[in-house]
Amino acid sequence: MAIKRVMVIGAGQMGSGIAQVCARGGYDVVLNDVKQEFAEKGLASITKNIARSVDKGKMTEEEKEGVLSRLTLSTNLEDAKNVDIVIEAAVENMTIKKDIFSKLDSIAPEHTILATNTSSLPITEIAAVTKRPEKVIGMHFMNPVPVMKLVEIIRGLATADEVYQAVEDMSKSLSKVPVEVNDFPGFVSNRVLMPMINEAIYTLYEGVASKEAIDEVMKLGMNHPMGPLTLADFIGLDTCLYIMETLHEGFGDDKYRPCPLLRKYVKAGWLGKKTGRGFYEYS
Ligand code: NAD
Repeated sequence: MAIKRVMVIGAGQMGSGIAQVCARGGYDVVLNDVKQEFAEKGLASITKNIARSVDKGKMTEEEKEGVLSRLTLSTNLEDAKNVDIVIEAAVENMTIKKDIFSKLDSIAPEHTILATNTSSLPITEIAAVTKRPEKVIGMHFMNPVPVMKLVEIIRGLATADEVYQAVEDMSKSLSKVPVEVNDFPGFVSNRVLMPMINEAIYTLYEGVASKEAIDEVMKLGMNHPMGPLTLADFIGLDTCLYIMETLHEGFGDDKYRPCPLLRKYVKAGWLGKKTGRGFYEYS
């Protein structure tokens, strides 16, 4: 199963990062979003990132031009006609993902692998809207994609071994470290991480300490590189809420109840770094 051409759906913080590492890894990449301006915003963020790599001497000007020449923008899902793998990184919402996968299934050639970068949603349920559940798989990159080594690869109930192998090989070709997990809400990463973040938000909500104090305790006391509230802002508070809701519904256990303060921030449009305000303010 040779993968050469990649389509990334969603040009937000994850999609643009995935497109960047794929183009850097030598793949031809189509970066798709619902509007041209969103796709262009993704490309601008890639251009800025790789220009920084050139400044730091981690990439030559030639390599930078090579990466940019392998990237094209799209607002049309029909472009999936020409790719070997689609990596979907649209918003963390089952209705949207099912709609995208069912359309992709009718557009993409038979051999095309349909991967999702979902943080928590069941791969098996997404696969069920397609006629190729054996070719549907979770390919969960970490944020920021160009920096973080892990790719959590999630097998759906029907995922074929050769599809798993192709995605594992591709992850290694991107200089990532793949780890295999099974399909349960939140997989491993967010089943462990997100309840910790949610508990940090409860700690703030209940007035146990200030946001700075909570982050400082976890940084200095637990040796975390950043505090949980800062991390939540980086992930996106909407994404954090979606993940908690998936855990809550998927396990039917109130220990995963999203903190009301998290809901309030999301309703206010305070989604974290990407909107300029979350627990902290960003200029
Ligand atoms: P984001 O809000 O930054 O970007 C989402 C992008 O998807 C936006 O540009 C939006 O316009 C686009 N989009 C929405 N509907 C679309 C559609 N129908 N077709 C094409 N594009 C569409 O979100 P993000 O943080 O990049 O998260 C994307 C996915 O990656 C989510 O499933 C999320 O759970 C997952 N993820 C996020 C993180 C993280 O730390 N943020 C980490 C791992 C995985």
